[in-house]
Amino acid sequence: MIKKVLIANRGEIALRIVRACNELGIKTLAVYSEADVQSLHVQLADEAICIGPAVSNQSYLKSDRIIAAAEIADVDAIHPGYGFLAENAEFAEQCADCKIKFIGPSTDAIINFGDKAKARDMAVKAKVPVIPGSDGVIDNEKEALKVAKEIGFPVIIKAVAGGGGKGMRTAHNAVAFAKEFNSARNEAEKAFGNGAVYLEKFLEAPRHIEIQVLGDQFGNVIHLGERDCSVQRRHQKLIEEAPSPFISDETRKKMGRDAVKLAKSVNYEGAGTIEFLVDSKQNYYFIEMNTRIQVEHGVTEEVTGVDLVKEQLLIASGQKLSYEQKDIKFIRHAIECRVCAEDPARNFAPCPGEISLYYPPGGHGVRIDSHVYGGYTIPPHYDSMISKVITFGRNRELALDRMDRALKEYLIRGINTNISFSRAIIKDPTFRSGSATTKYIEEFMKRAPKNLYT
Ligand code: ADP
Repeated sequence: MIKKVLIANRGEIALRIVRACNELGIKTLAVYSEADVQSLHVQLADEAICIGPAVSNQSYLKSDRIIAAAEIADVDAIHPGYGFLAENAEFAEQCADCKIKFIGPSTDAIINFGDKAKARDMAVKAKVPVIPGSDGVIDNEKEALKVAKEIGFPVIIKAVAGGGGKGMRTAHNAVAFAKEFNSARNEAEKAFGNGAVYLEKFLEAPRHIEIQVLGDQFGNVIHLGERDCSVQRRHQKLIEEAPSPFISDETRKKMGRDAVKLAKSVNYEGAGTIEFLVDSKQNYYFIEMNTRIQVEHGVTEEVTGVDLVKEQLLIASGQKLSYEQKDIKFIRHAIECRVCAEDPARNFAPCPGEISLYYPPGGHGVRIDSHVYGGYTIPPHYDSMISKVITFGRNRELALDRMDRALKEYLIRGINTNISFSRAIIKDPTFRSGSATTKYIEEFMKRAPKNLYT
């Protein structure tokens, strides 16, 4: 069993990992930047080492400093959380070279799924449906236009290294194509240092449905059902729930089976998420696999009762999965709202600063995953997400009513947040009817009076 873990992350996920380690009797080492001295994960971990200045590429992305901290503190594993180095194959390799267990899948799996065009190939090989698109990367504009015409407009141009909705452009016709193709390439080059792109047919109003999987070192793989993450702003998830109010039992079964098939085809180890788009006729298509724990993992935990982070730690310790597929039951409905320090009135501009007053909601069926507290100053250097509110209940209606109540109770003063915006969505009849697609937020913002959520 792993005895001591370095947590190579910050914020709520670092705290989440500390909690799982504490329950398993595993010692924790927090690493932190100069801007995060006040953060709860630093205070709650058994030990903490400062690894550099605030900017991520001088601290949380500095693999050599993290490995040095691991060696000084004599840890036997590193949990990368999500973001930062979580999908960095070189870092995983460095860990292996230093005989430190990287809590995640094999380096090969990280490399193959980290490149979205390669990931598509893997899905095709495993006979999992993909969206019609180009055969891998296309770098020639003329060739790309030819393929786009074959696929049929609209098409979406996507960065192979893409993430967080960056490096993605939609072209509705041949005239717009060249401009969009080049902007996607430029944005990808800037964001990821890799301008390679591929093409897919653009689905007009799909659902984003993803399947959580767990695999161990013995080739066992199970799925833990889906999460519906269709409520997105600029391709970034805002609200996630499970079970999906849209997919049928038959589609759910097929998607779960295909997700397991794909993970098994690469002997997948650890927690992973296989993302699909689903059209109005319940046809589903693979879009990517994330080889790490996701922000929205708590939704699945509340629906199934499985602690995913503990499972990651047990799998990394060389244990067999604690569950077989037949043990996984979907016992209730859960929904998550991401709380961000941002101002909906100023086009969701980040809003760091000191939280002067903080009172989180509680009571039956409410879970808060957050590292902030009253008097805490949110640094401007990182992602604006400061908390996740997860509510759950016997059915969707109860979980939604509870979310409405929890968001109403949530008091954060000193900074602006998107809490009212999320609450307006929870109350919106279209959302409540269960019919939201990935186009929903755009349409909601067009019709909802601004004073409803600012
Ligand atoms: P990222 O890794 O940047 O999050 P994804 O490939 O996961 O990118 O896609 C993010 C979101 O972009 C999807 O959930 C969906 O809303 C939209 N999207 C991606 N591909 C398509 C497509 N082919 N058609 C329509 N929407 C798409």
